Amino acid sequence: MYQVLARKYRPKIFDEIIGQDAIIQTLKNAVVNDRVSHAYIFTGTRGVGKTSIARILAKSINCADGPTANPCGICPACVQIQNGNSVDVIEIDGASNTGVDSIRDLKESIIYSPQSFRFKIYIIDEVHMLSNSAFNALLKTLEEPPAHAKFIFATTEIHKVPETILSRCQRFNFKRIPTKIIFDKLKEIALAEDVSVTDENLMVIASLADGSLRDSLSIFDTAISYFGKDIKEDVSQVLGLTTKSIIFNLINALFAKDYESSIKAAREIYESGADLRQFMKQAAFYIRNILIVKLKYKDLVYDLTDEEINALIPFAEQKSTEELLDMLDIIINADMKYQRISSPLLMLELTLFRLFNIPQKKDVQELISRLNNLKAAYAPEAPGAHAGIAEQSGLKNNDKITATDTTSDAATMKNSNSAPDKPVKSADGNGYSLEHEKLFDHFLKTDEKLNELNKKTESADSVIADTAKQSRGEITADIKSDSADKKESGGIIENIKEIFGSGIERIEKN
Ligand SMILES: [Zn+2]
Repeated sequence: MYQVLARKYRPKIFDEIIGQDAIIQTLKNAVVNDRVSHAYIFTGTRGVGKTSIARILAKSINCADGPTANPCGICPACVQIQNGNSVDVIEIDGASNTGVDSIRDLKESIIYSPQSFRFKIYIIDEVHMLSNSAFNALLKTLEEPPAHAKFIFATTEIHKVPETILSRCQRFNFKRIPTKIIFDKLKEIALAEDVSVTDENLMVIASLADGSLRDSLSIFDTAISYFGKDIKEDVSQVLGLTTKSIIFNLINALFAKDYESSIKAAREIYESGADLRQFMKQAAFYIRNILIVKLKYKDLVYDLTDEEINALIPFAEQKSTEELLDMLDIIINADMKYQRISSPLLMLELTLFRLFNIPQKKDVQELISRLNNLKAAYAPEAPGAHAGIAEQSGLKNNDKITATDTTSDAATMKNSNSAPDKPVKSADGNGYSLEHEKLFDHFLKTDEKLNELNKKTESADSVIADTAKQSRGEITADIKSDSADKKESGGIIENIKEIFGSGIERIEKN
């Protein structure tokens, strides 16, 4: 009988667990030094090893050879716990036993000594699903558990577990498993299963699993049942993804400013029946990877092969960090809008149009260092000089701000780039050059202008959203409040942080 991969390759000893090294080491030490706590809570996303580790820990302390960090796997304790039919290791599914009754049963049985092993161990999965009264009933037992009893709780939603429970448990935060580690594991399993599969396909499967080994194995199962034991064709389409080559074509057209090809690619994606929200996520990750390559954190590009990373370098060289962040911002916001706009193709095209029209921007760091150079080179000699020059430059605060205006900023910067960084005397001979004064003024106003542009874009967005809603005869009020919320909820960096997690933290620090 065929056994699904996730079950067949479920880890049986600590050393088979991947991606949770610190937790494993701590638990092993606790077992060896006889310092196993009476209650643990394991928190983390699904499929990262919480229940597997709970069972292995139960085996470690009950194994006939134990307590040991390496349970034998063949004694009655190990075998029964592995099969989930031990009378002393009780697994309770919190999701289907939410009421106080199941905890009452637990309280009645916990006082009796274990029947065959050293410890009675209660593993409660999805513990956050317990009702308040169940938690209250549990609390008493947790405060003074019998010496022969231990608890291991697992949850995907730690915030729903009462503080009173948490404070009585030793807590372990399980990490999402890095794609590269899942990839290596899949490769190992493919070999063991005699499945021939390309690295590109394995990478697609590993990255789709979003940090969950169990999910990656289920996806791998799907691919095997579709293609058999020889997986050479691109698995993306079977898995409901836009193929990497289509995304590559689109990004290529975008960077080459080839509007026609990009619209063609968009139509191709639409007609392939791909989930456009999923596609937006893929495209965002693609840009994100270009950004990471740009910032020279190559090892953070986790869902691409080395060859694919090298292909990103030319893209990274074409855009500044600021421009790439703008692109990400547009894609991420478009993704949010898909929830409300009735024509996804229209939205995709509008998004592309917006991506084509990102104002050219220099990197902030570069601007700052150039500003500092300018300041140093032109220390004021005549205090009265400023006002007159600002007037001559014709740049006033109430200047009308347009997209072309921002482009002309870039042009000014470019011009002054070609000018050497040495003092050029202006007409009145005060040591400031008109050119540089202009540049200086433009730098100071860049933020203001871009903010205004952003506001314009946002109000255009809400008009589009409103029109779409009106055409469906719905009320507009909630759209407006929604876009207002979005504005308040923080800028680009916050969005990106939310999506990419720790990777971006590391970039900020450096
Ligand atoms: Zn054993």
